[in-house]
Amino acid sequence: MTEPKDLPKRKIIYDEDGKPCRSCNTLLDFQMATGKVSPVAAMSPMASAFNTAVTDFIPGSRTYRKVDPPDVTELGRSSWTFLHAMTAKYPEKPNLNQQGEMKDFLNIFSKVYPCHWCAMDFAKYIENHSPKVESRDELGQWMCEAHNHVNAKLGKPKFDCNFWKQRWKDGWE
Ligand code: FAD
Repeated sequence: MTEPKDLPKRKIIYDEDGKPCRSCNTLLDFQMATGKVSPVAAMSPMASAFNTAVTDFIPGSRTYRKVDPPDVTELGRSSWTFLHAMTAKYPEKPNLNQQGEMKDFLNIFSKVYPCHWCAMDFAKYIENHSPKVESRDELGQWMCEAHNHVNAKLGKPKFDCNFWKQRWKDGWE
């Protein structure tokens, strides 16, 4: 069976051990690279249902389903939620110790983030744009700009940083 010509070109990211990296690719790309789903099947309308289907509970449990490990999208969304929520709880006027801890945390985060090529870019961003940790407002703006840097890399529109507090701290009304 020949494959349709208009299948999207997929660029698969590999781990150091030469295997496809789950947390660096989308779930669909990862499944295509590991042969769990064919490119043709991936184009079908059932593909997204297939990929999000949770079929079973883990053995011995009626509570925990067999959920797959996170792909790059789920990992990213959860991580930004954590980073912005952490920023929203940062003190308005942090003492020097708290400022140092936040800098250390962001440096370490940029080294251990589980998508290694995302981590390398983020570490470079931190090197060139030192985290602004002297107040909550400054850190909020910095985090928003860091997120916008990734948005731009992925071809997404910028988020208006004037609204970071409504989005992550105060709500809209
Ligand atoms: P997300 O970008 O995850 O954003 C979640 C929500 O945050 C949005 O719905 C919006 O309400 C809000 N938001 C958006 N922008 C901002 C902002 N600037 N400030 C405040 N709030 C905002 N993915 C890759 O494919 N390649 C990468 O190199 C890569 N690098 C990453 C580096 C880091 C440090 C992190 C945490 C994630 C990275 N990701 C990367 C994942 C990527 O940024 C997204 O999380 C993922 O694509 C899912 O996007 P999303 O559209 O759900 O929204």
